[in-house]
Amino acid sequence: MLQLDLKLCGECGGCVAVCPQGALELYSHGLLIKSDRCNLCENCIVFCPVGALGINTVQAKNSSLGKDKY
Ligand code: SF4
Ligand code: SF4
Repeated sequence: MLQLDLKLCGECGGCVAVCPQGALELYSHGLLIKSDRCNLCENCIVFCPVGALGINTVQAKNSSLGKDKY
């Protein structure tokens, strides 16, 4: 699922504009992620100038993180 690093986010609002799902909203308290709307398209991650957004790969790609080398 999508995660926000609050320490990095400058609340510029750019990610809100590039999200096709309307999954991001900027409030006076900061950025709100509506995970139920997010389809992990990564538009916001690519856009964010400070790298404040990322995907929690443990949850999002749980099945592909197996020890498949052995
Ligand atoms: S684009 Fe990055 S810095 Fe701007 S509001 Fe979104 S997460 Fe925060
Ligand atoms: S990953 Fe895509 S759908 Fe999810 S919040 Fe970012 S831009 Fe919106």
